[in-house]
Amino acid sequence: MSDSIERVKCLIIGSGPAGYTAAIYASRANMNPILYQGAQPGGQLTTTNEVENFPGYPDGITGPEMMMELQKQAERFGTDVRNGWITKVDFSGEVHKVWVNDEKEIYCDTVIISTGASAKYLGLESEQKYLKLGGGVSACAVCDGFFYRNQEVVIVGAGDSACEEAHYLSNLCKKVTMLVRRDEFRASKIMEARVRNTPNIEILMNTETEEVIGDGQLVTAVKARNKETGEVIEIPATGFFVAIGHKPNTDIFKGFLELDETGYIINKPGSSRTNIEGVFVSGDAADHVYRQAITAAGTGCMAALDAERYLASKDATFEVSTSTYN
Ligand code: NDP
Repeated sequence: MSDSIERVKCLIIGSGPAGYTAAIYASRANMNPILYQGAQPGGQLTTTNEVENFPGYPDGITGPEMMMELQKQAERFGTDVRNGWITKVDFSGEVHKVWVNDEKEIYCDTVIISTGASAKYLGLESEQKYLKLGGGVSACAVCDGFFYRNQEVVIVGAGDSACEEAHYLSNLCKKVTMLVRRDEFRASKIMEARVRNTPNIEILMNTETEEVIGDGQLVTAVKARNKETGEVIEIPATGFFVAIGHKPNTDIFKGFLELDETGYIINKPGSSRTNIEGVFVSGDAADHVYRQAITAAGTGCMAALDAERYLASKDATFEVSTSTYN
């Protein structure tokens, strides 16, 4: 065994609210966690402007600020937060093996997966421009809908998420225009009926987004094209919501962990345990339903507690602190 292989009691993969909460609990339980931040340190929240629905912040906080606070809190108790991207794992043996940036190898007694999910976007240049500017493009109505109270917004998508989010927005906004690219919804009938029966939701079928229009800083309208007639219209809107699905960041776990058909990790009901002993999951990597910072944080706590109990049940390894094999 190479002496460059590090052995850790608890490796946390991912730096969103799930990962940092797991880190806070794991470090306070003397598990000496090491947390790898991944490609997007701070996770999805770093693309959100203002977070107003996380309890404890009565005046709100920006997503990036909140993630810095969480990191500080985890580090205060001794979490070793590192830059790096986990590129490969091997969970087939008793020791869980993990590779950082395809180079460094780590042997882990426990692994907490908090790799999250990524919202899918259309990929239009104008959409990405206003997303990066924080000027009115969002993939989370529950997070950002409040900022568009009494305004007109556009939402794209026709699955259950799009229906749920369109309905959520209809309670806040003056008008919601829903762009459906085909001549039918993908959503369940009941969800479709709900949006169809909401007076301030206008549904445009067979309609694709051509461009998100703005004044250079904020979104002002959405240009859309009817695929059947070719007609192009400009819909006045201050918000453009994308609800075309999420992709869980779980590709590297395929073949080791049980995943559902979309790639979400299947956890044992009521716990963070996966099908592999010593490997736990928290946050959006296993949650396609709630997807909130607070639910991710809650499951991060669960994962740390489950990992702690697992280590305690194997107390020989629990006494080993972060060290290097010789
Ligand atoms: P889905 O994959 O079910 O739906 C994605 C939708 O986005 C489809 O209508 C799809 O269109 C559309 N879409 C994809 N790409 C584009 C594009 N480039 N341009 C325009 N439209 C596009 O994702 P969801 O997030 O809605 O749902 C994921 C899973 O979570 C589902 O199993 C769903 O049932 C579940 N869920 C359940 C909820 C509940 O029960 N309360 C709430 C939310 C989600 P097309 O149909 O043409 O492919």
